[in-house]
Amino acid sequence: EDFGGWVELRDPEPETAEPTGPRPVVAVVGRPNVGKSTLVNRIIGRRQAVVEDIPGVTRDRVPYDAQWNGREFTVVDTGGWEPDAKDRAAAIAAQAEIAVATADVVIFVVDAMVGSTDVDEAAVKMLRRSNKPVILVANKADNTSIEMEATALWSLGLGEPFPISALHGRGSGDLLDAILAALPEAPKIVENRPRGPRRVALVGRPNVGKSSLLNRFSGEDRAVVDSVAGTTVDPVDSLVEIGGETWQLVDTAGLRKRVGKASGTEYYASLRTASAIEAAEVAVVLLDSSEVISEQDQRILTMVVEAGRALVIAFNKWDLVDADRRYYLDKEIDRELRRIPWAIRLNLSAMTGRAVDKLAPALRKALASWEARIPTAQLNQWLTALVQATPHPVRGGRAPRILFATQAGVAPPRFVLFTTGPLDAGYQRFVERKLREEFGFEGTPIDISVRARK
Ligand code: GDP
Ligand code: GDP
Repeated sequence: EDFGGWVELRDPEPETAEPTGPRPVVAVVGRPNVGKSTLVNRIIGRRQAVVEDIPGVTRDRVPYDAQWNGREFTVVDTGGWEPDAKDRAAAIAAQAEIAVATADVVIFVVDAMVGSTDVDEAAVKMLRRSNKPVILVANKADNTSIEMEATALWSLGLGEPFPISALHGRGSGDLLDAILAALPEAPKIVENRPRGPRRVALVGRPNVGKSSLLNRFSGEDRAVVDSVAGTTVDPVDSLVEIGGETWQLVDTAGLRKRVGKASGTEYYASLRTASAIEAAEVAVVLLDSSEVISEQDQRILTMVVEAGRALVIAFNKWDLVDADRRYYLDKEIDRELRRIPWAIRLNLSAMTGRAVDKLAPALRKALASWEARIPTAQLNQWLTALVQATPHPVRGGRAPRILFATQAGVAPPRFVLFTTGPLDAGYQRFVERKLREEFGFEGTPIDISVRARK
């Protein structure tokens, strides 16, 4: 079997703004009993060790969130790696190979008290083929004399061995420093970014009521904020107070002035809409409830989804909706908005002010979903239960298995499923639907990609 590489079925890292970058994966491999679990517990500070006791979560491949010197990564514990192993051992070995193939850095653990064995040497061959950075750990170096003996492990050809005692903590700080050094480029930490007002795009086709809504927030009776300390705001943007909070409505210059309606071609308007969405974190797409949902409305919604922005759909002119219209509108929503059931919907009226106070809470909720991060252990507990209850359907005698998942990024949330083969589109949609049922994500698109073994 060829474990040489992985195919990207979909690009897990789209080139849109990437505030956090993916969390790198560190795989811990080695023969059974060399102390991998003990080391993983040491790395994660035992904070999540309780997870091991949860039924259904085997310790064959359990990912945990870890942190060292402010750097976050995922550490994957594997079972024992044993070439030529049969049955269970073979399965574990295959999983270790997969863990290696999916990892950014591999920690190869050997037992310093035992020294290198034939099995270790065979493992080294597999690790070499993986072309991954490998850190050689000589565990159970509980004292200086074993530490000295561990230098003999240079012979494995993996470079300098790190003598540590996972049990007692000896040498683990140096090891963690070495892990960090081997990780790919550090991502920007979004949480620490000094934050100005949240950026909102108020978009929709002409005449849906964008200026009317904006005027509600920035009319004469309302406070228009001129500046926020420490931030620069594009002159085409408006800073307005909505729900006790200052928001930056991007590219609203045209809406504010609005002398005549003629503001260029539809093409130009659509470019402008696209750039406003791009500049925003969350988009409010206004629809005219008194009219049928049009193709142009759909195009704008698609722009938001494809840009990966949080989404609130405001059904404006609700004052014009009578029982009859309501009946048909509900049908239209079922039909036309089926692909985005997660969007937050509001029925409001810029004219009467109906439900306008619901906008700020909706924006906050959508943004919270957009930036949500599911802890790796929690994600995988859920996933393990899901694939046990509903495995992938068998195709031609084989069913691809989902091995584990990580959240690769936020804003919007992006997940990577590590699998033994490509998933059916239908099954992938099922996983997404269940993921949303479990974790919410109301108001945000999410992205799921699959990394399958070739
Ligand atoms: P795994 O099968 O590779 O995950 O190994 P475990 O973490 O389960 O450890 C196997 C045994 O080695 C356990 O009894 C541990 O307590 C022991 N062990 C792990 N690390 C050390 C160490 O640094 N020194 C000593 N003396 N024993 C250790
Ligand atoms: P924009 O082109 O999207 O900026 O739309 P406008 O704000 O200029 O509104 C277009 C028309 O719809 C104007 O005549 C508004 O008075 C009207 N309008 C806007 N909001 C509402 C509403 O909630 N109810 C009703 N009945 N009319 C509205």
